[in-house]
Amino acid sequence: MDTPLSHRVQSIKPSPTIAVTARAAELRAAGKDIISLSAGEPDFDTPEHIKEAAIQALKKGQTKYTAVDGTATLKCAIIDKFTRENNLLYNNKQVTVACGAKHSLYNLFQAVLNPGDEVIIPAPYWVSYPDMAKLAGAKPVIIQTTIADNFKITPEKLQNAISDTTRMFVINSPSNPAGASYSENELQGLGSVLRDHPDILLVTDDIYEHILWGEDKFTNIVNACPDLYARTIVVNGVSKAYSMTGWRIGYAAGSEAIIKGMNKIQSQSTSNPTSIAQAAAAAALNGDQTYIHESTHIFKERHDFVLKSLQDIDGIECVASAGTFYSFPNMNGLIEQRNGINNDIDLAEFFLEQAEVAMVPGSAFGVPGCMRISFATSMEKLQTSMARIKAVL
Ligand code: PMP
Ligand code: GLU
Repeated sequence: MDTPLSHRVQSIKPSPTIAVTARAAELRAAGKDIISLSAGEPDFDTPEHIKEAAIQALKKGQTKYTAVDGTATLKCAIIDKFTRENNLLYNNKQVTVACGAKHSLYNLFQAVLNPGDEVIIPAPYWVSYPDMAKLAGAKPVIIQTTIADNFKITPEKLQNAISDTTRMFVINSPSNPAGASYSENELQGLGSVLRDHPDILLVTDDIYEHILWGEDKFTNIVNACPDLYARTIVVNGVSKAYSMTGWRIGYAAGSEAIIKGMNKIQSQSTSNPTSIAQAAAAAALNGDQTYIHESTHIFKERHDFVLKSLQDIDGIECVASAGTFYSFPNMNGLIEQRNGINNDIDLAEFFLEQAEVAMVPGSAFGVPGCMRISFATSMEKLQTSMARIKAVL
């Protein structure tokens, strides 16, 4: 008998970034010399003082349920972080901790969206936003961008995407997969459109905040437009900044009513994020921040190498990323040149089979013809993979 699955499940697909990463790992386990440029996580180990904080938490018996919205210590560290780094003030009831920023976003979408609501998402987008909107019964409305726009939307494009049923606008800067970062001025332009639509909630996913090397310092839409504070939810986490993807700690800050709604969802699902991981996350936020600068410096060196290598290949167009550990080249030229390769999915398959290099096709992020290349891997592997790509072409 076929097991009937819910309409909800049938309306979505598994995360393609996770799927490609898993396939690369499977092929490697089967003996193939695959280099994966698909990972969405830093390749460094979690800094020692953070791991030590987790060990101490274990030893002290912090092994029980915590408050639904996180321990007092971690929430305090998050509030201090927002004050210190983002000049944003939140009280205790305006902050909640979840099992990763992904889970914070999930709780948020579940807490505020209704069937029929529209969620505006600029493409290329992180793979989970549209499917999370669908899981909440809402409809993703995608704004397309191209490499010529530096993969950023304009106020006009945002205005055109807004309808009477728009409920949410999601912005991710620096962005996964394009590595694009909005300047304060650009955010003010978007804010001036949103100001006229008071029913739209703003979600700023700041998870790549620290992995930024462009000229502008990190600014989000509330920094650029403080009057939008009351209807903006800031989402962030420790995964990317402190190489803590496996610890699963993310957090959100916004209006008390929305945070309360998110807590209600969490109280009926995970109860709380892992107690030990929360202790580690507090140590990450309160402790020495040297790791962030060191890792960002390494990502920038790798970025420069990958950018130059890609720009040297006929048929590939690539612009510099302002941050993150991703490049998002346009490979339409290659697709046109090569017989039997009709789209980015064929091309990713070709690279996987022929060059043994795994990357995620742009169509997963809503921009077919591009390819996401993660440089969260050693320089040596990047050099080998770029050489292999050039050789098979
Ligand atoms: N937002 C973006 C843009 C991401 O790339 C990721 C990485 N998976 C997340 C949110 C979620 O990160 P995490 O759940 O590990 O905190
Ligand atoms: N965010 C990472 C990525 O884009 C991790 C995988 C995922 O959560 O989808 O690859």
